[in-house]
Amino acid sequence: MVLLWTVCVCLCVFAPSLAMPVSRRHNPSRSKVLLVSFDGFRWDYDRDVDTPHLDAMARDGVKAPYVTPAFFTMTSPTHFTILTGKYIENHGVIHNMWFNTITSEKKPYYQTQFVNDWWDNGTVPIWISAQRQGLTTGSLHFPGTASTYQGESAEVSEVEPRFYNYSNETAWRNNVDKVMGDWFREKDLDFVSLYFGEPDSTGHKYGPDSPQRREMVKQVDRTVGYLRSSAERNGLTNHLNIIITADHGMTTIFRNGLVEEITLSKIKGFSFQDLVFHLVDYGPTGMLLPKEGRLEKVYNALKGAHPHLHVYKKEEMPSRLHFKNNDRILPIILWSDPGYVINGYFPVQVNKGEHGFDNENMDMKPFFRAVGPAFRKNLEVEPFETVNIYPLMCHLLDITPEPNDGHLDATRAMLISSVPEDKNSVRDVHTGVFIGLAAVAGVIFSTFVFIFISNVIKRRRSEQRNDNKGKTEECQTKEASF
Ligand SMILES: [Zn+2]
Repeated sequence: MVLLWTVCVCLCVFAPSLAMPVSRRHNPSRSKVLLVSFDGFRWDYDRDVDTPHLDAMARDGVKAPYVTPAFFTMTSPTHFTILTGKYIENHGVIHNMWFNTITSEKKPYYQTQFVNDWWDNGTVPIWISAQRQGLTTGSLHFPGTASTYQGESAEVSEVEPRFYNYSNETAWRNNVDKVMGDWFREKDLDFVSLYFGEPDSTGHKYGPDSPQRREMVKQVDRTVGYLRSSAERNGLTNHLNIIITADHGMTTIFRNGLVEEITLSKIKGFSFQDLVFHLVDYGPTGMLLPKEGRLEKVYNALKGAHPHLHVYKKEEMPSRLHFKNNDRILPIILWSDPGYVINGYFPVQVNKGEHGFDNENMDMKPFFRAVGPAFRKNLEVEPFETVNIYPLMCHLLDITPEPNDGHLDATRAMLISSVPEDKNSVRDVHTGVFIGLAAVAGVIFSTFVFIFISNVIKRRRSEQRNDNKGKTEECQTKEASF
């Protein structure tokens, strides 16, 4: 009887908890995600260099031959696409440089990291999405880390100092150890984004076909090996999914009389006097704000002026580029073909390698690798757009994504098993378990009540019998035969 009571009480008390959403912070099966970006790592950089660690990662996980970044293929905008799943026109971080068309003020890449309004303009990156759903996140040097979003930021973050050496391999290893040991193991963070500024810097300075770039790719490869061994040392391998990708590629720039360079001031009929504001001398891209009534004049002067210069009115931009529907985008947009950059008054650019070009150009495509408990092994998947990385990461973290331009269908094939398509179905399973256990509890309880009542009746009758005993012998005989 005591045992029955215990079973009933336990079931009644604990069964309802099975129907409640499992606390994310104490779910041991919850997987962690590390997003790593090696700035400017072009999809084919492993083809002319031995990369044993990247090769091992592909064998142990998933590789895409390349991925397609958003346009402009520029560092801050394309990184923000990875963090939000939105095309650049939809997240609003349209350029590396913050600018003001009224004062003509411009801020370079690093200073723009600290212009909060430039980043925080309606879209929240994955750090915020995850934290609002009970997870904890961190970010180390990733573009966008310095800003807050609707008053929130990654719980743990580190922004590089103003004059930071992006190439120091010892610093890279220290950062890896910090993320794996302190952040994932000690602080138990769920998601971390980790950024390395190479091989972009080397690609710009020496060109993508240089021996210096190949050496830097070897350094990236060693770091990937170090990163995976650090995950192992910190006991993270079984529940950490690692995604390694980049923001854009790199292509060689032609100069020294090899080609006719694009210099706007040399173009017949074009004058800077017709502009309120311009953003050129920044690789292959440009944006112009003509004075009132001068748009057609500026446009007609530039359109067709150079065989490798593309000139578009904002509203006529090809929709495949997703670079027109935003107030920050200026009325005339320029970009050049690979090999060329756009100069303003005269050529001032010296980089041997550049990015920013059309995202259909193969040299602009970054690489992609993923490894971890959620990913299949030794699988090469079809190329996909980097807007799809955000919904993939949300899926791995089991959080609901914000509205975005990507879809899990683009990457579903790389996953070992599709966890239920939405979390409601997980709750449905829990609810089913609860109903089943409640029913069992109900049956046991009813049985207990029935037995209890039967025993009470039996006892009462037995007592009655004893009371009547001795009253009449006839009666005793009658009771006994009942
Ligand atoms: Zn970059």
